[in-house]
Amino acid sequence: MAPVPIDPATMHADQDPDQLYPEIRDAVRSLCAGFDSAYWQRVEEQDAFPERFVQALTQAGWLSALIPEAYGGSGLSLTAASVIMEEINRSGGNSGACHGQMYVMGCLLRHGSEAQKQRWLPAIASGELRMQSMAVTEPTTGTDTTKLKTTAVRQGDKYIVNGQKVWISRVQHSDLMLLLARTTPLDQVRRKSEGLSVFVVDLRDAIGKGLTVKPIRNMVNHETNELFFDNLEVPAENLIGEEGQGLKYILDGLNAERILIAAECIGDGYWFVERASNYARDRIVFDRPIGQNQAVQFPIARAYVNVEAASLMRYKAARLFDAGRPCGKEANIAKLLAADASWEAANVCLQTHGGFGFAAEYDIERKFRETRLYQVAPISTNLILSYVAEHVLELPRSF
Ligand SMILES: Cc1cc2nc3c(=O)[nH]c(=O)nc-3n(C[C@H](O)[C@H](O)[C@H](O)COP(=O)(O)OP(=O)(O)OC[C@H]3O[C@@H](n4cnc5c(N)ncnc54)[C@H](O)[C@@H]3O)c2cc1C
Repeated sequence: MAPVPIDPATMHADQDPDQLYPEIRDAVRSLCAGFDSAYWQRVEEQDAFPERFVQALTQAGWLSALIPEAYGGSGLSLTAASVIMEEINRSGGNSGACHGQMYVMGCLLRHGSEAQKQRWLPAIASGELRMQSMAVTEPTTGTDTTKLKTTAVRQGDKYIVNGQKVWISRVQHSDLMLLLARTTPLDQVRRKSEGLSVFVVDLRDAIGKGLTVKPIRNMVNHETNELFFDNLEVPAENLIGEEGQGLKYILDGLNAERILIAAECIGDGYWFVERASNYARDRIVFDRPIGQNQAVQFPIARAYVNVEAASLMRYKAARLFDAGRPCGKEANIAKLLAADASWEAANVCLQTHGGFGFAAEYDIERKFRETRLYQVAPISTNLILSYVAEHVLELPRSF
């Protein structure tokens, strides 16, 4: 008999979270097995987007896991969604190509009008429309989001957008993009977090008609871009929620994002530990497996310990989220622990492979580069520590 899935909202301490959703793990693993090392190497060599992979995940319904059934999704919990992301990265794949399709729509789901949800969510759930992009970061203001300079000025039934964004991912593989822009100048708001608004930009109408997209070559094969807005017209009906409250809506979605990204890091971490262990068992130098040397096995064991600990914090954060309870602290801690654990595991795996770790055919150098990104994006480690210091430990605000 198939194991009964555990409801994460009521999960008890003696239940093993790794036993959750075995059927999801098996199904995602078997889908990912169709996209082997040769596939990912070919995609990278060609600087291409893993279109066939993203399409397969979409068609199987995995990327609409968080869309409620009423809008055509499967209405799974965040815990289940995190297991999907973990398994993709654990299989050697890269969720960075598709994770946006799972969580960007959360802003629309929570803050959009019923008409907006009916208009877009079923099409996102079926994969007919891709909403994989979210444009927040700007070149001159970086993490200091409230100072962003892109403006959206209302003119009749439209907003006119001007400004610039940077590092905006998957724009060329999305139909819809969330945009955060200033609708009231900073010097006219009571609080600096006010006066920002979120819009759905239909990229099919926008590109070439006020929006220019310039790809950024980068360290990983990640489709990311500079965006230039020059009097782009966005219909006023595409404003999400109330004008001026957009930052709150974006921040509101960040806990889910942090937990899902933590799960990707955990998937990477397990992949690195498994690769390192296999190699350390098989590679014979000085007439014995290198893994017989404690100087080789201890770092692998430590990396595993850290991944396991990070995974527990991910489950705790996801459980709180699914129960509708505050989880800012746990989501941030999970992301930090998981990003650190995957990066350490990557380093250990590379070291364990000696020179072969640098050969592209082993995939380790690719995954090493991919997992490094999580120290910076979507939120840098320092900013998480700053959140914990200020909001959890009540230390003085530093900025
Ligand atoms: C591949 C890639 C994809 C991305 N995709 C997207 C996307 O789709 N959408 C989007 O909006 N953004 C995206 N980003 C942007 C990403 O979220 C930012 O790069 C990240 O948040 C850091 O911002 P920044 O690069 O402006 O760094 P900065 O804010 O300039 O910070 C630089 C460094 O200084 C540190 N720092 C800054 N201020 C402080 C402080 N007060 N205390 C301590 N340390 C500080 C930071 O931690 C960081 O290490 C992406 C980035 C990359 C690299």
